[in-house]
Amino acid sequence: MSISMVHAALSGLKSCQQDIGTSMDVVTDVAMDLVESHETEHSSSVKELQDMILECASLDREINCFSDIVERLSSEVSQLPPEALFSLSVNVKEQFEQKKASFSDAELHNHQKVVAFKEGVGSALHQDNGEAAENVDEDIAVTQSQVIFTCPLTQVEMENPMKNKVCNHHYDEGAILAMIKARHKQHKKCRCPVVGCGNLDVTQADLVLDQLLKRKIQKRNSNKV
Ligand SMILES: [Zn+2]
Repeated sequence: MSISMVHAALSGLKSCQQDIGTSMDVVTDVAMDLVESHETEHSSSVKELQDMILECASLDREINCFSDIVERLSSEVSQLPPEALFSLSVNVKEQFEQKKASFSDAELHNHQKVVAFKEGVGSALHQDNGEAAENVDEDIAVTQSQVIFTCPLTQVEMENPMKNKVCNHHYDEGAILAMIKARHKQHKKCRCPVVGCGNLDVTQADLVLDQLLKRKIQKRNSNKV
């Protein structure tokens, strides 16, 4: 085993982790569909979906923990004589088991995507009230929705609206990630591109996919046709 193999395995694990994230978004979407369909028996299925989300969150947490340990230990190992590499996997296993023992189920409920799931299902449940309110003044609703549906960076309608948890602004996923990356490359912070916003440091960790908004945009577009 060599260090480059460790890095290759790690990047494989990371891409697997991305797939888990995508699956969690899909599960949330399905749960919201279910709630919106007004099936009277949806509550047990939503519960099942929530269990799935929690399982994914647990897996995601384990991958984070595991890759942190591997990254840390393998960078330590690179400073040591080659024999040190032999004990790497034993050490990783040991530290991983230790860390895992300290995990709690309660903290899974704070996982970004679990929170998004609950918010999504919750707002789908209350959507009827929201729609009624929108009809009160359609002109205002239209103007507001145009503002919200448009990405401040691309000036076009968002495909994957990401909400910034810190300042509550929205941007399209591709555009904001590209901007963060470009700024960080210059070793600068990425300030929120919304005019007048005081958030001077937008990071990827602050961004969550706004499923409800995404669905609103999709729904509006399907109504147009
Ligand atoms: Zn902002």
